[in-house]
Amino acid sequence: MRGFKVFLVGALKVNSTLLYSKGKAFLFDPGAEEEKLIRFLEEKNLTLKGIFLTHGHIDHFGAVKRLKGLFPEVPVYINEKDKFLLSQELWPGFAKYLNADLNPPIDGYLSEGDSFKLGSLTIEVYETPGHTPGSVVYWVPQLEVLIAGDLLFRGGVGRWDLPGGDYNALISSLKKVFNLFPDTARVITGHYDPTTLGYERRHNPHLRGIL
Ligand SMILES: [Zn+2]
Repeated sequence: MRGFKVFLVGALKVNSTLLYSKGKAFLFDPGAEEEKLIRFLEEKNLTLKGIFLTHGHIDHFGAVKRLKGLFPEVPVYINEKDKFLLSQELWPGFAKYLNADLNPPIDGYLSEGDSFKLGSLTIEVYETPGHTPGSVVYWVPQLEVLIAGDLLFRGGVGRWDLPGGDYNALISSLKKVFNLFPDTARVITGHYDPTTLGYERRHNPHLRGIL
């Protein structure tokens, strides 16, 4: 049994993804509402083996500290270039609004070219700065699934006006992703509905003249 399940969590409806294979699971961007994720793990009898962040924004990491309290042996990974964001709530009162905890414990830093095994699946790491300096996407070749964080949305792209954001870097990262992966790739975006690269190539107005 392998696959993935996407949960909408928190006030900003972050897509938090559980990827699983052979009884083991990786969790991506647990922003809030970790009880939903834990219930699924229990129902499916899955052992959590790692927590991965696409970037250092509080709506994506807000439940990490609480999850580490419950699963202290499970490592948490992020790109080091987003470390500076882990102590920032971006707007006053935002942490409280999101029911999110700042300063999640981090066990390891990942970067371009890293890969992880999960049962019969491989998870590859690609750096895609722009939304934040340390934004990454996770590619699962066996499922043709891209966990894209806030790089790309259905009909939109990530904002570049937050700390460390960079428009030119964002455009380069978008080109990189569309060059690396097939149009059939399913994309789990950071928020909103899932999409495919092919759909965005044809319909996303922000990509017109760029790709
Ligand atoms: Zn973000």
